[in-house]
Amino acid sequence: MIYLDNAATSWPKPPAVARAILDHLESAGGNPGRSGHRLSIAAAREIFQVRDALAELLGLADPLRLIFTSGTTESLNFVLNGFLHPGDHVVTSQMEHNSTMRPLRFLERQGVRVTVVPCAKDGSLSVGDVEKALATETRLVVLNHASNVSGTILPVAEVGALVRKHGKHLLVDAAQTAGVLPIDMKGMGIDFLAFSGHKGLLGPTGTGGLAIGERVDLRELAAFKRGGTGSRSEFEEQPDFLPDKFEVGTPNSLGLAGLAAGVSYLTAERLSSLRQHEKTLTKLLLDGLGTIPGLRLFGPGDPEKQVAVVSFTLPRLEVSEIALRLDEEFEVLCRPGLHCAPSAHRALGSFPRGTVRFSPGPFTTITDIEKAVDAVATLARESS
Ligand code: PMP
Repeated sequence: MIYLDNAATSWPKPPAVARAILDHLESAGGNPGRSGHRLSIAAAREIFQVRDALAELLGLADPLRLIFTSGTTESLNFVLNGFLHPGDHVVTSQMEHNSTMRPLRFLERQGVRVTVVPCAKDGSLSVGDVEKALATETRLVVLNHASNVSGTILPVAEVGALVRKHGKHLLVDAAQTAGVLPIDMKGMGIDFLAFSGHKGLLGPTGTGGLAIGERVDLRELAAFKRGGTGSRSEFEEQPDFLPDKFEVGTPNSLGLAGLAAGVSYLTAERLSSLRQHEKTLTKLLLDGLGTIPGLRLFGPGDPEKQVAVVSFTLPRLEVSEIALRLDEEFEVLCRPGLHCAPSAHRALGSFPRGTVRFSPGPFTTITDIEKAVDAVATLARESS
């Protein structure tokens, strides 16, 4: 089986991830921060450690400003709903996932003005166009760091500098880049970073977080849920300190134990060798698929300008049929369709048919890529 769907969720995970989940169940399974006994303390310690490790990985000075959520979608909703008010203006790009677009379209009906900056055919975004879209009432710019459709890397650091110059805030959707590309929130001018734990960070599904930079005045970010924290239990009001102001209810400590193992796998050295590996695989895919007659590639077509996500179509086969046949006849697993990002497909010129998306990961081999390219070539030949 050749798994080329790491943009949906990474698989396999490093073996330490499954071991950590099992260990947690067997030896740290208390409710963190609630009871004072040893299993509760052990679980709380694990969460403290993974919060610290993630803050360091993402360039966030204060780990308490990292809030665990169920993933990028929840984190984006947290900021969009908690930071924007009717009358505010928000700028975003055409390459965004529906986890940004849908909350924004909802907020638009509540009186938030939304500007979607068009992107080029390869998914790239002009910083000048973002600057032109800024207005006095602009409160927030929201961008994905890399597209889940074409892999295109957006100029987040340049927009970060721009946003600072104009006194606005920047929210980055790092679903496709946390654990894949270097992220330094402070250096890149990122105020809010939304990420999933189950993709590049190699943890289990249901994990993720929101990192809140130092420039954000926490009084300007409304909580959208309130409840038990195990702290200040004598009060009926929510504590105003972090992370308890925003992190309520029993945490997903089992998932976070797995995420901790995924994050510890990603040492600085490994991050850079994995990026190199993904560039090699992306180039092989682009070169191999590029020689197939009639096949159309979408995106930058340059491993330096994209993460390991490659989208394509064939002239006489629907994308769903290509993916189904790749699975059934060649054991190549990938994702066809619009990938929850219809606007991005409009920019790339692949709406409404969508694309077949190959997304290799840390454990994909060169042979896997060669076999997958051969399989597509066979389908293309048979359908011509
Ligand atoms: N943004 C992008 C760019 C994504 O690729 C995804 C996942 N497909 C999300 C947001 C949502 O992430 P999650 O499903 O983990 O909340």
